Amino acid sequence: MSAAKPLIQRPGDAAELVVRGARLLDPRSDLDAVRDLVIRGGEIAELAEPGADAPDGAEVVEGDGLLAVPAFVDPHVHFRVPGQEHKEDLETGTRAAGAGGYCAVVAMANTEPPIDSAAVLGSVRERAEREASVPVGFVANVTQGMKGTELTEMAELRDEGAVGFSDDGLPIRSARVMRMALQYQRLSGGVIALHEEDPELSGEGVMHEGEVSAVLGLAGIPSVSESSMIARDSALALYEGAAIHVQHLSARSSVEEIARAKAAGVQVTCEASPHHLTLTDEQVRSLDSRFKMNPPLRSEDDRQALIEGLRDGTIDCVATDHAPHAPEEKEVPFEQAAMGVTGLEKAFAVLHTELVLPGLLPLETLLERMTVGGVPFGIEPPRLEAGQPANVALIDPGQEWIVGEDGYESRSHNSCFAGRSLTGRVQMTVAGGQVAFRQRSFAMGVA
Ligand SMILES: [Zn+2]
Ligand SMILES: [Zn+2]
Repeated sequence: MSAAKPLIQRPGDAAELVVRGARLLDPRSDLDAVRDLVIRGGEIAELAEPGADAPDGAEVVEGDGLLAVPAFVDPHVHFRVPGQEHKEDLETGTRAAGAGGYCAVVAMANTEPPIDSAAVLGSVRERAEREASVPVGFVANVTQGMKGTELTEMAELRDEGAVGFSDDGLPIRSARVMRMALQYQRLSGGVIALHEEDPELSGEGVMHEGEVSAVLGLAGIPSVSESSMIARDSALALYEGAAIHVQHLSARSSVEEIARAKAAGVQVTCEASPHHLTLTDEQVRSLDSRFKMNPPLRSEDDRQALIEGLRDGTIDCVATDHAPHAPEEKEVPFEQAAMGVTGLEKAFAVLHTELVLPGLLPLETLLERMTVGGVPFGIEPPRLEAGQPANVALIDPGQEWIVGEDGYESRSHNSCFAGRSLTGRVQMTVAGGQVAFRQRSFAMGVA
């Protein structure tokens, strides 16, 4: 329905590449075989029997022991453009995405100013054409100035290329405004992505409300603050026949609400983040502000429900909620610190290490959940098939590395996984037919 193309990438050289003898794994295409992956003119030309001649001038990458998979799609990142480029811009943000094996990301609109008009949307899209090494789609705000009262010109924003709508960072407090937004969503298309939180229940909370918050004497954010809003918005979406995407699920009660909504026929999809899938509020005992985010890290029981939901498909996809912050916002006492963590550069490695290797989640399921996140926003999952645009992540599944040891591609360093030892590392990423990233240590030759 949208007139403008959804994803934007700066023009560059089309990849000419042969990856020799990697394990090509694409559950969506029912592919698991050792092949030579031949990329010509930015497209997948061939999945050849090993030993094929490389076309003249093509780069040759020895893929022995490596995995070649469809690159990932993140439906939820914050690139801080316009207005807070000291934290991240489109160049550093997409470089971080490339380092994480991503071929497409959806950028949120809680910028300064927020992306609530065709003029602001047009200007960030223009910047992406100059700066984005990995294709970026932009959502626009649901309400003007993210104030939660007047709707934006949703149809016009769709025509200008908004892939969806979100006031992420803030919930849409008023049920009446939410209902009107859903009525427009049904007409304009472009899913509404929701940060679900009841501000009345969250109050001044700074962490999950539970045993740990009681011990620390910190104000808590109860899980029902999230799940009660999911229940409200699912009911409204069903009533209006509109589509919603629930962001960053954190609680068991939320997974249960989503399961109920899906069973009732609500057009709802949802996401969970690597940090909520692998960490709990126990981390907050350290009062380290790197573990402060919204929604907060919750209990082990909540975490188990998220893993189960991701496994059984109640949770559709993985989203990083990559949220860069400046040091001065994080290097302060826990209660005053900004909420949010970076995520793009290690999402796969974290989930591979914490869920796949211990046998909690099949690798194929992880790959599916990391590639499907763009679908609510009209972005098709990439495939390893001849004739498809080249969107490929080349991964060394056995490489051990320490997060942050080689620095970060992101301009901000507020990672809750800093210092962790992980297994599995992206070596190279082809995004939108261009080589978007290669690990410094990763060698290659030219035919
Ligand atoms: Zn949010
Ligand atoms: Zn967010």
